[in-house]
Amino acid sequence: MLNIVIFGAPGSGKGTQSERIVEKYGINHISTGDVLRGEMKNGTELGQIAKGYIDQGQLLPDNLIVDMLAKTLDGFQDSKGVIFDGFPRTIAQAEALKAMLAERGQSVSVMLDLDVPEEELMTRLIKRGQESGRADDNEETIKKRLVVYHSQTAPLIDWYRQEGLYAHINGLGQLETITNEICQAIDAVK
Ligand code: AMP
Repeated sequence: MLNIVIFGAPGSGKGTQSERIVEKYGINHISTGDVLRGEMKNGTELGQIAKGYIDQGQLLPDNLIVDMLAKTLDGFQDSKGVIFDGFPRTIAQAEALKAMLAERGQSVSVMLDLDVPEEELMTRLIKRGQESGRADDNEETIKKRLVVYHSQTAPLIDWYRQEGLYAHINGLGQLETITNEICQAIDAVK
């Protein structure tokens, strides 16, 4: 089983690279942001709760996200592995993921840290907002999301380093070059 955590600030290219990895390795993909946007679109209770946090650029409470993730994970049958995109975003979530996989006799294979300079993130997200109409891709909310990333999510870099699972990926440059670097990191743990 290949369990990959794709990590990085908002706008670092996690979604784009995940699609390529899914295609190459035939594994499942969980994007917690996509699941939440689906819940919002369907007007579910979780979607209504999520909207309040997403519009403010804040993270949802860990327990809500962990429950949601466990349900999605249980829905996969005959899986070759999973790429976790946008999760974990806090140390508590990383610990919950570790426990959840251990219960299933599995573990995280590698954490890929897509490293992109801050100015580039801002430019990419503003462009994405204009193209996709994603409501939280506006300058004010992007700034809040980056603050949240630095304070609550970036500490996971050291956490995964200590677990011996950290792989640095240069997230700036041609898509293909970035994908190649990612594939090398995955193939090294396969
Ligand atoms: P994303 O599409 O990954 O950028 O996520 C969009 C928004 O969904 C985030 O700004 C959070 O409000 C929420 N969200 C997504 N994943 C998580 C997570 N793992 N923990 C808490 N909130 C999350």
